[in-house]
Amino acid sequence: MLPQLHRHPWMDEESDAFREQVRRYIADELAPHMNGWRRQGFIPREVWRPFGRLGFLMPEIAEAYGGAGVSLAFQLVVQDELAKAEVPANTAVHSIAAHYIADYGTDAQKERWLPRLVSGEMLAGIALTEPGCGSDLKALRTTAKRNGDGYVIDGVKTFITNGFTANLLVVAVRTGGAGGRGVSLFVLETEKLRGFGVGRRLEKIGQHASDTAELFFDGVTVPSDHLLGEVEGNGFPQAMSQLPYERLLLCVPAAAMIERAVELTVEYTRQRKAFGQALADFQNTRFKLAECATLAHVVRSFVNDCTQRLLDGTLDNEAAYMAKWWCTEQQGRVVDECLQLFGGYGYMAEYPIARMYADARVQRIYGGATEIMKELIARKLFA
Ligand SMILES: Cc1cc2nc3c(=O)[nH]c(=O)nc-3n(C[C@H](O)[C@H](O)[C@H](O)COP(=O)(O)OP(=O)(O)OC[C@H]3O[C@@H](n4cnc5c(N)ncnc54)[C@H](O)[C@@H]3O)c2cc1C
Repeated sequence: MLPQLHRHPWMDEESDAFREQVRRYIADELAPHMNGWRRQGFIPREVWRPFGRLGFLMPEIAEAYGGAGVSLAFQLVVQDELAKAEVPANTAVHSIAAHYIADYGTDAQKERWLPRLVSGEMLAGIALTEPGCGSDLKALRTTAKRNGDGYVIDGVKTFITNGFTANLLVVAVRTGGAGGRGVSLFVLETEKLRGFGVGRRLEKIGQHASDTAELFFDGVTVPSDHLLGEVEGNGFPQAMSQLPYERLLLCVPAAAMIERAVELTVEYTRQRKAFGQALADFQNTRFKLAECATLAHVVRSFVNDCTQRLLDGTLDNEAAYMAKWWCTEQQGRVVDECLQLFGGYGYMAEYPIARMYADARVQRIYGGATEIMKELIARKLFA
């Protein structure tokens, strides 16, 4: 067992009870299907309807739009429990899209989309990355050109989580000149949308239950009330201001995966024998796991502290960058150390530790690669 952590004020009886409900639902209704979903390469959109009905999808959205109006901590609790059960980040992406609408949408946009995102009727994705730009988002080339009362969107997006299953997308496009000032976000309902196409579901080395796809926009016509906030050129600041929350959405699963890796490895090394003794009796095993448990503790403390600061409104961008690169790097390191202690079994895909190894790798790339996080931290240091 990992040692008990200092409790932050955000962890109260209400969030503990909520966590228990979410955990039970995931164990009963999602975990038994994970292998099938991994094989088919996606989790069907319909799965999220009962999840939404029970209030697990977007608990932090205001009651006026169907949510419970609770703190963001409840969403992070959901993400923590999903990660522990190896359910990938599909609902995290959904929540980011919903937050864009909640924070920057007009009243009409909020009324139109938020209740459906809360209930699970709609599943959302965020389409920022393009074949020619990922880290350097300001270079994006998908355009939205004014045409009468609306806009015409042309371009290609790639690596989009929920790209195959989503029926709502928040898409970053160029409405103006070069650089960040020319970027706007549009909300698209994609079912039967003319000119919109989903390319192949991309084959990944891990995260097999999560669909990742290319998206094509070929003369897609949308009314101007689909421009988020209905003011052009705000897309970049809109996207940037959500980043501390988005980065925490990656740190929470990092903490969860590290803890699970340690637990699984303690259990395995107790049972597996070599040279007439349990692997757990070798000093190397004990020391390695002691190191990993220490990292688990430090990562979780850091994540809990960032969560508290996010709720207090004091989580600055730099702390979020630090948490993103450091927690995800520790995830890769711990899972690798743990896999080593499984020997050949650790390399077999049927063992969770093998999946966790492959799943962990992308954490250091998406949501801002480690190098980008360090660059942003350094920029502040040398400002
Ligand atoms: C499984 C998966 C899911 C994803 N889901 C989504 C999604 O839902 N929506 C979405 O919009 N995108 C998504 N992405 C895209 C992801 O955010 C990008 O892959 C990521 O931002 C990196 O961009 P890139 O792949 O173009 O790499 P590049 O920008 O080409 O960078 C490659 C590498 O170069 C280095 N590098 C780049 N710039 C610098 C620099 N300034 N300084 C130092 N080193 C640098 C880094 O090591 C970086 O990893 C997803 C990606 C994956 C793999």
